[in-house]
Amino acid sequence: MNRPYNFSAGPAAIPAEVLQQAASEMLDWHGSGMGVMEMSHRGKEFLSIYQQAEADLRTLLAVPANFKILFMQGGGLAENAIVPLNLSRAGTVDFVVTGSWSQKSQKEARKYASEVNIAASSQDSDFTTLPAPATWNLSRGASYLHICSNETINGTEFHELPDLKALGSDAPLVIDFSSHVASRSVDWSRVGLAFGGAQKNLGPAGLTLVVVREDLLGHALPACPSAFDYKTVADNESMYNTPPTWGIYVAGLTFQWLLRQREGELSGVAAMEQRNIAKAELLYNAIDASQLYVNKVAANARSRMNIPFFLRDESRNEAFLAGARERGLLQLKGHKSVGGMRASIYNAMPLAGVQALVDYMREFEQKRA
Ligand SMILES: *Cc1c(COP(=O)(O)O)cnc(C)c1O
Repeated sequence: MNRPYNFSAGPAAIPAEVLQQAASEMLDWHGSGMGVMEMSHRGKEFLSIYQQAEADLRTLLAVPANFKILFMQGGGLAENAIVPLNLSRAGTVDFVVTGSWSQKSQKEARKYASEVNIAASSQDSDFTTLPAPATWNLSRGASYLHICSNETINGTEFHELPDLKALGSDAPLVIDFSSHVASRSVDWSRVGLAFGGAQKNLGPAGLTLVVVREDLLGHALPACPSAFDYKTVADNESMYNTPPTWGIYVAGLTFQWLLRQREGELSGVAAMEQRNIAKAELLYNAIDASQLYVNKVAANARSRMNIPFFLRDESRNEAFLAGARERGLLQLKGHKSVGGMRASIYNAMPLAGVQALVDYMREFEQKRA
């Protein structure tokens, strides 16, 4: 099957092999006579799907034994409330604001934390840089510090997670890794909690992944809904309420696809990371070498997953997008708050897709140069 290349920021492309397997099992999962969407979440069939997905994700992301993996609902935006409901202890929380998503997160946290301290912000640079951790103004005794480790809209990414202990803070680090989860390894020694919606890099919308250190469970505010209390969710193996069974199943197929990936000696997320570096370099190099396209993000802060770029001649935007669609290069229009173009090149985007985009960009530039 020759599908177009889909550069959507999310919900985003899913590996064709995963979609094909889901399609072939749609009416009858493994001879059970039932599709996954029709099964009891407590039956042995779905439990085996759930347990395999949990184990595969733990392997893929090298999640240590003292972290719980929770499959929840509500997406990244709900986590903006669920995290402070569980972790703020109604005290002070620190935020580093580096773009649209962390901006939204800190606003929501104000409903639950008694104080939100903006430890650093890159707003002055229009969110094209990341403030160096050594400059962060951390508060004493903060309940946690929140960063968005990949800003999907602004196209910045932390290439190293901050070491809060080394900065003199005991606060657990919370990362919103929605848009680069499983694209690179995670240094769990620096993380207290990571959350992400599945629809960027793991599977369909409707599933939210939370990975949380055990000692952070059990401190939810009284007003926290039971279905969103991490301890309740963990104690019930994500089945306090009916979990998003279809999302867990498709994410599980994606985890198996990821585990099968190879680049030389590397496999799984390490293989993906190498491929993602190559994809991002190819596109950034093409942008930087051109007279027409420009990416404004500082070199050390550039995201490997979401690459916004502009045409210096914005009157050609519509022609660029129409030509791209004709070539089977879909959903390249930039976020409405930023404008221009954005290529999201998650795990499911092969190097050949980025090469096709780069070839088209060169041709489009030359046509009227
Ligand atoms: C997409 C995204 C979200 C929002 O997720 P929803 O599922 O729409 O709530 C949050 N954070 C980041 C970094 C995202 O990319």
